[in-house]
Amino acid sequence: MGFRFAVLLTCLALVGALPRAAHAEWHKRTDAIMGTRIYVELWDTDATHGEASIDAVMAEMRRIDELMSHYKPESQLSSINQHAADAPVVVDKELFDLIKLSTHYSEITEGAFDITYASVGYLYNYPDHVRPTEAQIKAALPAVNWRNMKFDDAHHSVFFEHKGMRIDLGGIGKGYAVDRGIDILQKRGIQHAVVTAGGDSRIIGDHMGRAWLVAIRHPDDPNKVVTRIPLSDAAMSTSGDYERYFDENGVRYHHIIDPKTGHSASKVRSATIIGPTATQTDGMSKTAFVLGPEKALEIINRMPEYDAVFVAPDGKVFYSNGLRPPAPRPEGAPPAADAK
Ligand code: ADP
Ligand code: MG
Repeated sequence: MGFRFAVLLTCLALVGALPRAAHAEWHKRTDAIMGTRIYVELWDTDATHGEASIDAVMAEMRRIDELMSHYKPESQLSSINQHAADAPVVVDKELFDLIKLSTHYSEITEGAFDITYASVGYLYNYPDHVRPTEAQIKAALPAVNWRNMKFDDAHHSVFFEHKGMRIDLGGIGKGYAVDRGIDILQKRGIQHAVVTAGGDSRIIGDHMGRAWLVAIRHPDDPNKVVTRIPLSDAAMSTSGDYERYFDENGVRYHHIIDPKTGHSASKVRSATIIGPTATQTDGMSKTAFVLGPEKALEIINRMPEYDAVFVAPDGKVFYSNGLRPPAPRPEGAPPAADAK
């Protein structure tokens, strides 16, 4: 993550060297919210308005965290986890809608994305190197199934049809928060900005005519780049097994869990999804870990608005059709129209 910032900032140094409109400048700020790093950078001709716009995005992130954090016992999400297996729990429409939307990603990823993974996921504690025993996993696993969440649209209530069920929005909440932040900036008239929360970013506009250049880091070395992708008016989410993990006896226990096994999902080391909104790219960035790069590419290639880059455990890099370099020109083919 640190490296992603380094690359973005390199771009800015270039932009800074260009002739600039009077008083217009880039405003940027980093904060720690939702247990992760939030970064906002925007172009504004009015410094006061620019700084107030960043304030508004940070306030929105805090509001979403209060509502949706599974770490905060007083959040509405925690209230669902505490009571929804006994009776339907009524929550704000916004939270209800996001939980319901998460099932759309469960559907298109064949269950690889499943917020009820938390029924077993809560047994892991990565900073303290805690993982469940096989017996604990076996006991908790039957509660993992997104189809056992029941929704009442009229009352915005959620009911769990299985005891022991839990949910957490760690796999989609940051993407959603990024989209809410971008929405606020657009309503305030901002036309060039990036908002990042953990592995999820969205960009509006470009850098004075140039795309933002975003790097995908090497899974084992934050200073090495797997590839760089130019982006404007797009969202991008990267998930990696190097974000929250511990190693034990040669096995990496990390924060993306296969809902079918309750173990860390390790079919790729990192997965990057590019698409229109950060909610969408976040909802899709766990898939390849669980289903493997080939199957995940099949799904992504069926959806024209998405692209993907996966790094496999052997270091092989997979690209979706939209990012693959063009095939080499056949022998004897006439030169391209723009060839010198
Ligand atoms: P980031 O927190 O940087 O955005 P990711 O987008 O990779 O990271 O999301 C990882 C988080 O997703 C985990 O910490 C956990 O909260 C949640 N999660 C883990 N496995 C799954 C899964 N199979 N389905 C849905 N969410 C998951
Ligand atoms: Mg994410």
